[in-house]
Amino acid sequence: MPLPLIRLALGPTNGVAHYGVLLDGAEAVTTCATHSPDLKPVTENTAHLTCRSCARALLTLTTPPHPSGEPDERPAAGTGPTALAHRTIPGHLLARCGKPLDNRRSSARRSCASCAGAVEALNGFCRRSGELLLPPAEPCHLDTGTLWAPEDRSDQVIGHRWNAAAGSGYCGRPLAGPTSGVLGECAPCRIAWEQAETYRQTIVLPRRRTLAASWPYRTLDAFGARADSLEPGDAYTLSGCPERHFVVEATSRRGDSHAVLLVYVDGEDRIAECRIRRDRLVAVERPVLAA
Ligand SMILES: [Zn+2]
Ligand SMILES: [Zn+2]
Ligand SMILES: [Zn+2]
Repeated sequence: MPLPLIRLALGPTNGVAHYGVLLDGAEAVTTCATHSPDLKPVTENTAHLTCRSCARALLTLTTPPHPSGEPDERPAAGTGPTALAHRTIPGHLLARCGKPLDNRRSSARRSCASCAGAVEALNGFCRRSGELLLPPAEPCHLDTGTLWAPEDRSDQVIGHRWNAAAGSGYCGRPLAGPTSGVLGECAPCRIAWEQAETYRQTIVLPRRRTLAASWPYRTLDAFGARADSLEPGDAYTLSGCPERHFVVEATSRRGDSHAVLLVYVDGEDRIAECRIRRDRLVAVERPVLAA
């Protein structure tokens, strides 16, 4: 039986939560090698802070590598190819030690010790845990009608609509992320969203459909980049999603872990919201403007 990967913490409601498994005999083993006999399973949506090293281990376990292949090591962002080599997280421009990375191969002789430690901890964890039951990967583009939880998590019952142009809910509340299982919908959000949705269906969608159809005849610059460098007018693909996404709007709040995009998905012929980590590796196609 594969063991489910769960959250483990010392306290039931707050403190640091790690990812790990409970072995037979209830011994807790974590992906970051933090060890304590007092680590206990905790439920979702608690106020725990997620251990950063466990969060990167989870990305490593759940993200497929980019289809065109990825090097094992890259230099940190802004350093040269011969600077210290860091181990990559598949599908991301993020090192196992947490450093942002450049989109190029490393030719360095020296490797980062923190990255090596993280790799060793996760390998050790996988040896002990055996086959794992992993949580589902974060969806790429969201279903129409996705409701979001407010950032302060004060109200778990009412869901809100994300306003990509404002970077918050249509009602003005800061939002944490997509949620499921809410009972109701915020009324101001619904009214404003319905208006926006009508505009998307009647104006935005036909324009984007035409643009996507013209794509094969355009001169395009193709490169790999971080998701937070995407601009309206770009198209991109990423590992784990078969679709090509055409960026309609791109907003990311400073300090936010994710970039939120409004995209046209031509394979599904619809406008969708997209929430992806800022350091996700995306294959960008950007039209070259005639000089
Ligand atoms: Zn941890
Ligand atoms: Zn490193
Ligand atoms: Zn709202």
